[in-house]
Amino acid sequence: MAEENEHVKCLIIGSGPAGYTAAVYAARADMKPLLYQGPEPGGQLMITTDVENYPGYPEGINGPKMMEDFKKQAERFDTDIRYGLVTAVDFSNKVHSVTVDDKTTITADSIIISTGASANWLGLDSETRLRDNGGGVSACAVCDGFFYKGQDVALVGGGDSACEEASYLAKLCTKVYMIVRKDHLRASKIMQKRVLENPNIEMMFNHQTVEVLGDDQVTGVKLLNNKTNEETTIDVTGFFVAIGHTPNTQIFKEYLDMDEVGYLDHEPDSTKTKVPGVFVSGDASDSEYRQAVTAAGTGCMAALDAERYLTEIGIH
Ligand code: NDP
Repeated sequence: MAEENEHVKCLIIGSGPAGYTAAVYAARADMKPLLYQGPEPGGQLMITTDVENYPGYPEGINGPKMMEDFKKQAERFDTDIRYGLVTAVDFSNKVHSVTVDDKTTITADSIIISTGASANWLGLDSETRLRDNGGGVSACAVCDGFFYKGQDVALVGGGDSACEEASYLAKLCTKVYMIVRKDHLRASKIMQKRVLENPNIEMMFNHQTVEVLGDDQVTGVKLLNNKTNEETTIDVTGFFVAIGHTPNTQIFKEYLDMDEVGYLDHEPDSTKTKVPGVFVSGDASDSEYRQAVTAAGTGCMAALDAERYLTEIGIH
């Protein structure tokens, strides 16, 4: 356990590809990094099936396995990895301070933010209720799809995540209704092809979710066709949401600049934020690419930037 006012040279917040890559580089540079994993250790790849586009894995790799490997590699160089949620930060002094789990204070000469992004929800009351009571609403097909084996489910979204999750569910479920609000998918062509050609997936273009039906357990979904204004109900036992993510950056808003969604600003071609000694990597600052490999790349950049910063301020 951390002691009160423990001080480190380099504190990394977050444990996705960006955080662990920053840790590997920082540890090998003898910065003795301390990494806090956050509420979703391993980040978004923990809820991904096969990662086929990370170089070095010609056959693809399972997301959780990949994150286990990232963690092991960071541990091999003695990164101090701890479970804990950073609940507050104070970047007003040269030495930065963070509070973990509302009780432990850590000070750090450099900080690498790699807090990633979290799933978005539609915001319907019925969705929230049936999500919070475990009644069949989920943002993670890989985590929860198994429970709907041999059943019919619905999934909202038209991006790569939605296509990936729909394809996954289609292997387990008898039917997957894919609810897309436009008349086309946003996903890459290869992902589109996979869902459009899958006989277990029924596309519901131009449809919006009005209500998730069911008292304690999902029994169906009420939909509105936004072209014809017709309402329909589909009978399903599971309701999956895959409509993008929001960066986990609100705790930094007093000190750092961000766009309207919450993606943190940094200097061009650098991971430097406007606060000296605070660097940002991964999806927390990337609204454009949001890939594991780009997150890992910026994690590396952040560690190199932090190392140079420590040298500049005379900390070895
Ligand atoms: P995206 O932002 O790409 O897509 C979100 C989807 O959800 C869009 O179809 C959007 O519709 C829809 N949507 C958003 N809000 C609502 C709403 N309120 N009601 C209904 N539908 C809604 O997010 P993803 O998570 O799919 O992908 C994020 C990034 O990660 C992308 O860059 C993607 O390429 C990448 N990715 C890559 C993968 C891979 O290559 N294997 C796998 C997963 C993600 P609309 O189009 O109408 O805005």
